[in-house]
Amino acid sequence: MNIIFLALPAAGKGTQSEKVCKNYHLQHISTGDLLREAASKNDSLSMEIKDKMQKGLLIDDSIITNLVSREIKGREGFVFDGFPRNLSQAKLFDEMLKENNQKIDYVIYLTIDEEVAKQRILSRFVCPVCQSVYNIKDESDKICSKCNSQLVKREDDNIEVFNKRLEVYKTDTAPIIDYYKEQGILFEVDSSLAPDLVFDQIKKIIGEL
Ligand code: ADP
Repeated sequence: MNIIFLALPAAGKGTQSEKVCKNYHLQHISTGDLLREAASKNDSLSMEIKDKMQKGLLIDDSIITNLVSREIKGREGFVFDGFPRNLSQAKLFDEMLKENNQKIDYVIYLTIDEEVAKQRILSRFVCPVCQSVYNIKDESDKICSKCNSQLVKREDDNIEVFNKRLEVYKTDTAPIIDYYKEQGILFEVDSSLAPDLVFDQIKKIIGEL
């Protein structure tokens, strides 16, 4: 089974992807995480990736599809989080899956109010060591409860970059909603609720194992 999560930045793609992977024994592919890892290396590609991510722009399709095809080769059963992000990636992805004798079973479209997403971005902290994500609205200690590291803000989690990501989402990513709707595989889920309630809706769509 292959599932795509589609949503505005900070709608909960990462959180729900992890829940789905655990419950349905699927592998998580987050292009954001793959890119952050690629950006941490010290080569010419990393500079290009870092620069675009810091500006909230999309990374070139060829870089993304290379990263993804390397991940899926010879394996099956994935949750794709943050990919595809525009129509050309969606079409390239269809070809890639066909070559691997695979298909997309569900596209879960997490819906959320822009203002709620913006607030989530502002209160999002991440652990630089184990990558756990936290939502912290008060002045409490920003320490990772799993590995005790000091939490940090992602460099692109600020209002200016969020606004750019929102703009890119509307122009580039939103058109793929109709692309998958026409194929009859798009399912909408209200992502403004608590994570477990969002996951309950997803389980109703995919079914219990
Ligand atoms: P969010 O969904 O919160 O914006 P992600 O971690 O999914 O966060 O993505 C962070 C950034 O990584 C994006 O703003 C973009 O620069 C880059 N990125 C992630 N996935 C893709 C993709 N499929 N195509 C192009 N760029 C991507």
